[in-house]
Amino acid sequence: MDDLSSISCLVVDDDPFMLTTLGKILESIGVGSVIRTDSAQDALKYIANRNNHIDIVISDLNMPNMDGIQLLRHLGSLGLDFSVILISGEDPRLLESVEVLGTQQNLKVLGSLSKPVRRDDLAALLHNYEPNQEQTPDGPGAMVFAHELQTAILNGDIDVHFQPQVNISDGRIIGVEALARWEHSEKGWIPPSIFIGIAEKYSMIRELTDIVFQKSITEAAHLRSLGFQITMSINYSAQVLCSLELPEILSETLNSSGLEPHHIIIEVTESSLAQDMSITLDILTRMRLKGFGLSIDDFGTGFSSLEQLKQIPFTELKIDRSFVHQASQNQSSLAILESSIALSKRLGIHCIAEGVETLEDWNLVKDLGCDYVQGYYTARPMPAGKFIEWAKEYGSKQRPQHSSS
Ligand code: C2E
Ligand code: CA
Ligand code: CA
Repeated sequence: MDDLSSISCLVVDDDPFMLTTLGKILESIGVGSVIRTDSAQDALKYIANRNNHIDIVISDLNMPNMDGIQLLRHLGSLGLDFSVILISGEDPRLLESVEVLGTQQNLKVLGSLSKPVRRDDLAALLHNYEPNQEQTPDGPGAMVFAHELQTAILNGDIDVHFQPQVNISDGRIIGVEALARWEHSEKGWIPPSIFIGIAEKYSMIRELTDIVFQKSITEAAHLRSLGFQITMSINYSAQVLCSLELPEILSETLNSSGLEPHHIIIEVTESSLAQDMSITLDILTRMRLKGFGLSIDDFGTGFSSLEQLKQIPFTELKIDRSFVHQASQNQSSLAILESSIALSKRLGIHCIAEGVETLEDWNLVKDLGCDYVQGYYTARPMPAGKFIEWAKEYGSKQRPQHSSS
C-alpha cells in the first residue's frame, strides 16, 4: 500500500523514548494516525473500545506486566483483522519464532524489527500492509463485545444460513452446511470468524452451538418433509467436543425431530484434532456408533497423520478452500488437493471440495475424482426460505454448466 494517510497505528512500548521516536518515524513516513501507549493493558483497552479503529499494532516484545507474546495472544483471541509489527532488542531468531506464534493466532504479521529501528525498514514493512476490503470503521471489523454476543444469544438473534453441497458427477444437491449468522443492530453482519472466536474465548460456544444445532435440525426436518433427501452438516468446535455426554444429548434432541442420525454430519476441524485426542476420540466414536456422519473440516490446514485419521471413524474428508480455489495455477495447492482426494479413497470415505468459486475450479476437482462440491460457483450460504426457492430453480436447470470431461 503506497498511501498510508488513511492508516491508523497503535504503538506499544514501555520505553518513553522509543515511543516518541517510533511515533515521529511513523508520522514522517506518512501514517495518518498514530496512537501511543506504554502498556499492553492500555493497548487492549483502547482496541476494545468500539469507537476506536486500528489497522496495525506495533508492539515491543519485552514489557513488564504483559509482554508482547501475551499481547499477541489477547489480540488473536479478539478474532479481529489486525496486522502486527514486532520490535525487540533481543536476538533476531527470537523475533522469528514470535512471528510464527502471531501467525498461529491468525494475526497478519507484517514482520519484525530489531532495535534500534531504522526508518526505511519500518517503512518497507508498512508498505506491505494490505487493508481488508470488508473492514470499515463502524463495520464488522469494529470490536464486538462479548456481552453483546451474550445478549444476541439470549435474544435469539443468532441465525443460521445454509450452503448447498452438490454431487459433482450429476449436479444433484446432496446436503447443506449450516453456518451461524449474526446481524448486529448497529454494525450489521458480523463475520463468524469474529464471533465464533469470541464465543470460544468467553465460554459461550456451547450455547451458540446448541442454538445452531436446534435451528438446523428443525430446518432439516422441514426440508425432508418437502421431499429434500439431503444431509445437514453442523460445525463443532474442539471446545464443545469435550463434554462426554454430547452424543447422548444430540441423539435425544434428534429423536423428537423425526430425523435419523445419518441425516446429520458433524464437522470437526482438522486443527482441533491436534489437541487432547482421548476425549475427542471417545465422543466422536460414540457419535459415529449412534449413526451420525463425521466430517474432517478444513483438511490440509492441520497436521493430522494417517494414523490419527485411521483412529477416528470419519465418513467425509472436507478439503480446505485454500487448496481448491485457483489450484490449477498453484503447484503446491494442486499437490495437496490431489493427495487429499487420494487419501479419502484410501480411507474409503467420500471427499468434498470447499471453495469451488469458478468453472475452472469445478472442472479441476471433477477431473481429480472428487465426489462433492461446496462453493460460490454453485451457491452462497442463504436463509432456509431462499434455499428452497434456489433449489427449485436449480432443479429446473438440472445442474450448473460444467465440462463433459
Ligand atoms: P467453514 O466451516 O470452513 O465454513 C465454510 C466457509 O467458507 C463459510 O464461511 C462459507 O461462507 C465460506 N465459503 C463457502 N464457499 C466459498 C467459496 O467458494 N469461496 C469463499 N471464499 N468462501 C466460501 P463463513 O460462513 O464466513 O464461516 C466461517 C467459519 O466460521 C466456518 O468455516 C466455521 O469454521 C465457522 N462457523 C460458522 N458457523 C459456525 C458454527 O455454527 N459453529 C462453529 N463452531 N463454527 C462456525
Ligand atoms: Ca465447516
Ligand atoms: Ca471448512
